[in-house]
Amino acid sequence: MPAERTLAILKPDCVRKNLQGEVLARIQKAGFKVLSLKTVRLTKETAGAFYAVHKGRPFYDELVNFMSSGPCVPIALEKANAVADFRTLIGATDPREAAEGTIRKLYADSKGENIVHGSDSVENGKSEVAFFFSESELV
Ligand code: UDP
Ligand code: MG
Repeated sequence: MPAERTLAILKPDCVRKNLQGEVLARIQKAGFKVLSLKTVRLTKETAGAFYAVHKGRPFYDELVNFMSSGPCVPIALEKANAVADFRTLIGATDPREAAEGTIRKLYADSKGENIVHGSDSVENGKSEVAFFFSESELV
């Protein structure tokens, strides 16, 4: 299977709880290669642009406020079947519905503050990696 890229973001709740290392270790143990990562503080504009697909949904403003509330860690990941396998690793959006052993089940407090983002399609994986990283940073 060809290598595929997906974007993870360790969200501001993950950083506030000092769980970046623990969550990243789980991601690496699951076989994902880290191409690049950085810590950034998103503005409301950048967070809003990243989640533009959700504009108009009832949770959009809260999501934008949360994602710009503190530093977060975008991570470009590579692996065969990366997009689907990463969604399996993180679990359902709402931690109460997430499978046992998934990152959201283990660490998340709520559907909004759910520790980690994962791209939802191969196409979005590519575009979301490009949203945060230039090709020369992906090594
Ligand atoms: N979200 C929320 N309430 C909802 C649905 C989503 O607060 O009812 C937030 C949550 O942080 C989620 C993000 O918006 O991770 C993006 O929603 P999506 O449905 O794309 O979930 P994901 O792909 O992150 O599982
Ligand atoms: Mg999504």
